[in-house]
Amino acid sequence: MRLSFLPRSAVEAFVSLLYPAHCAHCGAQIEAREFLCGGCLENAKRIEPPFCDTCSQPFDGAIEGTFSCANCAQRHFHFDCAVSSFRSRGMVRELIHRFKYQHEYRLRHPLADWLAESLHDARIQARPFDFYVPVPLHPARLREREFNQAAVLADLLAKRSGKPVLDCLRRERYTTTQTRFDRNERMENLRNAFNLRKNIKVQGKHLLLIDDVLTTGSTVNECSRVLREAGAASIRVMTVARG
Ligand SMILES: [Zn+2]
Ligand SMILES: [Zn+2]
Repeated sequence: MRLSFLPRSAVEAFVSLLYPAHCAHCGAQIEAREFLCGGCLENAKRIEPPFCDTCSQPFDGAIEGTFSCANCAQRHFHFDCAVSSFRSRGMVRELIHRFKYQHEYRLRHPLADWLAESLHDARIQARPFDFYVPVPLHPARLREREFNQAAVLADLLAKRSGKPVLDCLRRERYTTTQTRFDRNERMENLRNAFNLRKNIKVQGKHLLLIDDVLTTGSTVNECSRVLREAGAASIRVMTVARG
């Protein structure tokens, strides 16, 4: 059959008959070009108000207006706010893990969809930004993982929104994995881990720092410190999910 003479949608329909697409989470049959079924998309755990205006930590109970959580009150953040639309729980957490550690590169698409939802957040909408800035990986970690998950997601957002990526940070120190450390240990472990690349100016620029997950905020905070010291006008953080 000469598929090139058929309309594109007919070709896709034919291909999807031969190779039906399946939901990346539950395996249900889905339309070609989709990655998750409607049921799984609905089950992704969203961050609903009320939440901390600075770090997006959700709260129980009815609190009106903007406020900061106890966690933020004790810390000095170098970013203006950290925005996520989803909790790092269940399926969201699993897909991020599969993307990062199990080389399921196609999962960048649903993760970028979730990340892009934060572009509609009032804190991001409040003022324009100049660049997406991905949190860098150390070159040794990059060789091991083959891609920087933050850079891949930032590139997808850039394609959709037309705003450019500024890959301006370098990870100088190879830090051991952070997962077993508490907040103070993480901060100590990350001290001077990042640098600004040579000949890149961020002075007066409004930046959106991009990463996959925000846990304690120590990594993005250390990146923000470097950007702030280099004269960035504002630094807002966007992650796919928040721990
Ligand atoms: Zn599903
Ligand atoms: Zn907070």
